[in-house]
Amino acid sequence: MKSIENINTKISEGTAVVWTASEFKKHIRAGETITPGDVDVVTCGTFGVMSGTAAVLAFQAAPAGSFTHAHSLTLNGVPAHIGPCPNESNGHVDAIVYGTAQSDRPGYGGGHLFADLVAGKSVEAVIETDTGTITKPITLADMSSAKMIVTRGAFKNYMAFVNPGEEEVSTIFSVLPMQGNMREATFSGCGEINPLENDPELRYHTPGTAALVNGAPGIILGTGTRTSAAKPNLSLAADMREMDPNLMGGFKMIAGCECLTSVATAIPVTDSAAIAALSVLDEHIPLPVANVANRTAFDTATYADAWSGDARIHAVPDNCKTPDCIRCRDLCPREAIRPDLTITKSCMGCLTCVAVCPDHVFSAETGTLRTISGDIPIVLRQSDRVRGELAALLLRSRIRAGNWKLGGVL
Ligand code: SF4
Ligand code: SF4
Repeated sequence: MKSIENINTKISEGTAVVWTASEFKKHIRAGETITPGDVDVVTCGTFGVMSGTAAVLAFQAAPAGSFTHAHSLTLNGVPAHIGPCPNESNGHVDAIVYGTAQSDRPGYGGGHLFADLVAGKSVEAVIETDTGTITKPITLADMSSAKMIVTRGAFKNYMAFVNPGEEEVSTIFSVLPMQGNMREATFSGCGEINPLENDPELRYHTPGTAALVNGAPGIILGTGTRTSAAKPNLSLAADMREMDPNLMGGFKMIAGCECLTSVATAIPVTDSAAIAALSVLDEHIPLPVANVANRTAFDTATYADAWSGDARIHAVPDNCKTPDCIRCRDLCPREAIRPDLTITKSCMGCLTCVAVCPDHVFSAETGTLRTISGDIPIVLRQSDRVRGELAALLLRSRIRAGNWKLGGVL
């Protein structure tokens, strides 16, 4: 058995063997026997809609004495919660912004705001105070503090949702109204590369352990809200100044905007129990299939079904014969389709354009849930395994460079 201290020494000396979870699974799928002598650290990642993300922001709104209290704040139209500090008469504003907060600008929410700030964009702050309204542009660099808190993230696994009823329904799990009679499914979760799938007992996801949140070094605070032994999740925090806008963002759904967040963690390979946990594959991970109307699971697929399709979309703009419909551009949750119908790097492979285009301009193998009830085609992914993998690669690079320490400190 290796100790975490042994592995930390190897990391600092630049001799640690570090793989991503995907690299580890390739060895397992090849039928190789992996021992703790083969690898020291495995990095895992996940990216997707994480509704429990919020930012705690603070900045100087006006010179001290300009107002006694700020009463309300919006940033690019996204409402913030003033406080908790009262900041009486000092001109400073502290505020909490929810990742799910909706702007008065259509298709823009807290997740979009966070990514814009991290990308260095200027946003419009409107502060209502007891002495009047202050409107000013503000950037992340202007803020005295900008921390992100994830209250519920990196769920070990999620559910797929279907609509067994006759009528279509609009839900927070769909971009379009969900068709009835279980004609389509939506799902979340990165399956075998998710951090907690590879450490289901949370041996190495303890309070104070370092983690990447949206590409920035942060810490695990503990388990998140609604955690359970069967479906644990994490609460985390990190400084927004070091985040990567490509590893976070907003996602436009039928019921409003959601917040995209990424988490990457490192698992020390100390013993055979760690190897056993890391050997989990998509085909071993159940994906409960639930009725979207009551959130009750009644069937089960696997993450191998969920991720059997193409991670990205192929577009043939010349196939568009009805350009005035613009359904693809209106409905893309990431606003990733250009006027010439090419796809930008904001795409997260959610499959919406494949589902909505009448001229089949966009194509991908979408994957099918194979359940006792029958085969159900997937029409929406709320997670992106490409970016989950990117987060794991970023963490692997940091550890290989000696820039990481394993183990909880709290
Ligand atoms: S898959 Fe299509 S709809 Fe989804 S983000 Fe990419 S371009 Fe937009
Ligand atoms: S949805 Fe299809 S047909 Fe409509 S504008 Fe987009 S590419 Fe053209």
